[in-house]
Formats: sequence, C-alpha cells, structure tokens
Amino acid sequence: MKYHCVILSGGMDSATLLHHVAWLDEVQEYGSKVLALSFDYGQRHVKELEYAAAQAADCGVSHTIIPLGFLTALAPKSALTGDVAVPEGHYAADNMKLTVVPGRNTIFLALALAFVEGQLEEGDTATIYYGAHAGDHTIYPDCRLNFAVGMDLAIRTATEERIKLVVPYQHMDKGDILDEGRSLSVDYSKTMTCYAGTVPACGKCGSCSERLIGFDKARMTDPLEYADREYYKQNL
Ligand SMILES: [Zn+2]
Repeated sequence: MKYHCVILSGGMDSATLLHHVAWLDEVQEYGSKVLALSFDYGQRHVKELEYAAAQAADCGVSHTIIPLGFLTALAPKSALTGDVAVPEGHYAADNMKLTVVPGRNTIFLALALAFVEGQLEEGDTATIYYGAHAGDHTIYPDCRLNFAVGMDLAIRTATEERIKLVVPYQHMDKGDILDEGRSLSVDYSKTMTCYAGTVPACGKCGSCSERLIGFDKARMTDPLEYADREYYKQNL
C-alpha cells in the first residue's frame, strides 16, 4: 500500500492540496490510500476543522483530527492561540509575527510521521504533503524551502526511506493555488482562512488580505462573506 497523508487545516491552500493529491494518477491506481490529517491546537479559528472535514468528505478520503491542547500552553504570545488580538493588515507588516505559533509545522510534521508510520505494514510506503507556499515565506521560517528540505531528510532518515515529505506549492502563491483549485472544482465556500475565526470573515487580518488578493489575481470571486471586503485594498 502507498499512503498519501495530507496535512489539512481547512484553509484554502490545504483544501486545494487535498484535491490535488486525491487526483494524482498514482493515487488513482489500486493500492493507494489518501489520509487527511488535521490538528486541533487551540486555534482561534477552530471552525476551520469543520471545513477540513467537509473537504475530506468531498474527496471521499478518511479524516483524522489529533487534539494538541498543549500547543496553547507553548504559544502564549501567539495571536492564533493566546490572549493576543489578531493583527490587521498585510503579511509584510511586522505585527504579523504575532501570528507565529512556535514550532507549529515542526510539531505537525513530526506527528504526521508518527501517524503514518503507525499505519504502515511491511513493504508499505508513504508521502506526507503540506501546503506551505511562497506567500508564507516572509514571516514563517517553517514554511521555507530550507525547512522542507531539512524535514524531508529527517523524515526519510527516521523511517529508512519509507516515508518522504513533498511540498508541491513551495513556489506558488495563493493566486496560482486558486488557478489549480478551479481546475479541480474545489468548493472554496467550505474553507476558512481568517485568523480571527469569525463568520463572516474579518477581511482585515493578513490571512484574509492575502486570500482576497489571491482571488483577484486568479480572477475569481471569493464565495465567502466578509465583514469588510474592501479593507485589503489599502496599502496594496
Ligand atoms: Zn480575517
């Protein structure tokens, strides 16, 4: 069996990635299985996990949510988990560093390794996919190419080459990802990107801004409702 494990947040990038993986030729072959994996880490935008479940259902793949309550204790200064307001504005702004959750992707990938390795039988192999993309690089060091290369090496070494890491969107921005999602008929009304975790989405956080810019670039209309759909146009 070849396993394909997608780290699925419920945001638009990982939702697209799940569809991308589910439709790979090698996945369509007999003997492959896709596993969607999400983490409940006390994120403010926990509603995204409902959308993650909906995307997994759309792709007809199994979905597992691993509770990581401890991450909140490790990240008291992060706006995504702690008692800190979610900053407004674009990602390039210094205040976006507040959205860093220490060690998040390292922890997620280590747990994905453990989750997948626990399923392998003799002769099975697996690929882990995560949806880091070029737009994440500025403020999130654990979304950069060097990190992915290092983690791939660590994962291969730890599993004697039975499991590897692939980051297909490393050189793509959100507009590129949406271009692909359109061809895969991803339903973006069932995704959540807003860091504030509100419905309608705030439209003011870096994540909302980047998403709306991406939809503009791909010449698509974002099906989500926003409290302020025009805010992101400031300081473009
Ligand atoms: Zn927002």
